[in-house]
Amino acid sequence: MMRNRHTKTKSRLQCSYKLLKNMDKEVKPWPTTCYLNNDSMFQSTIAREASAAGVGLHTGVFGHVRLLPAPADTGIVFRRTDLDNFPIEAQGHNVARVSYATSLMKQGVLLSTTEHLLAAIYSCGIDNIYIDIDSIEIPILDGSAEPFMQMLEHAGVRKLRRKRRYLKVLEPLEVEEGDRRIGIYPADEFRVRCYVDFPHPLVGQQEVEMVVSPDTFRQLLARARTFCFERDIEPLRSMGLIRGGSLENAIVLTNDGVMNGPLRFPDEFGRHKALDLIGDLALAGLPLLARVEAYKAGHALHTQLVSRLLADPSLWTITTGETAPVEREIQLTTLSPAPATD
Ligand SMILES: [Zn+2]
Repeated sequence: MMRNRHTKTKSRLQCSYKLLKNMDKEVKPWPTTCYLNNDSMFQSTIAREASAAGVGLHTGVFGHVRLLPAPADTGIVFRRTDLDNFPIEAQGHNVARVSYATSLMKQGVLLSTTEHLLAAIYSCGIDNIYIDIDSIEIPILDGSAEPFMQMLEHAGVRKLRRKRRYLKVLEPLEVEEGDRRIGIYPADEFRVRCYVDFPHPLVGQQEVEMVVSPDTFRQLLARARTFCFERDIEPLRSMGLIRGGSLENAIVLTNDGVMNGPLRFPDEFGRHKALDLIGDLALAGLPLLARVEAYKAGHALHTQLVSRLLADPSLWTITTGETAPVEREIQLTTLSPAPATD
């Protein structure tokens, strides 16, 4: 079934990559390192627009996504351009149904599969951004966060004059469901540990632990793609899911191997789960100073943790990060000649 859709979807994906490549030509040289610094005391936004297009993994609906600069204290805000720019803030209280992807809903307006784009934005320390989208689902592109990182690199960063606010966790909080669990604990940096265990010869037990920064995200997680088991394809399709799934945007695991190798990392599955976790933690609405440990968790547990954390203000405080490393000056990236401004 997936193979049947392969050709049809491929041409659409080539279209989306063409957009990215065109952007590539506009700004030379293409950056080789991420300029974005999430240790900054000051808020940031992007310096210029960036866009891409592609099919949504679950709905199969083709959409265009455009990243735009936003003023200080805006946060990360999606805008449905097909619905008069209806805004949906990337915050825990807008989480809707969560199963195989994280969906946001506000006043009945839905937006699906936000996690990979949010993981890239959050890891890069972008505090304020508008994400314009003309469909119900964020394009899946190649199934990883790499195309979104390329968009952000094209966009560059612009520091704002307003102090960055962090959500600093003061007390531990744990959520359990059977043998799955997730916990968040006090820390002076944003650190994640993600453990997966799938009974499959290529997966098994995999664990990722890292301090989240633009560089660690880019190097360790951004390229890890989403995956599914071949045996789950028909059941998922009958549930109305993965209508846009193809061998170009998801690793498909057969009973004893992978249908569309090679893998990008031997432990690509565990890395992708960590990517998903970070994307869901972005719904905290502010950069976290906390350590998060996820054990066989998924979108449902990730978002439950965020919702319960936000619902109990005794567990955290908002800090302007006075203890964060002080920068010598407000410095613009080489790609961002725009003045620092709110
Ligand atoms: Zn994912």
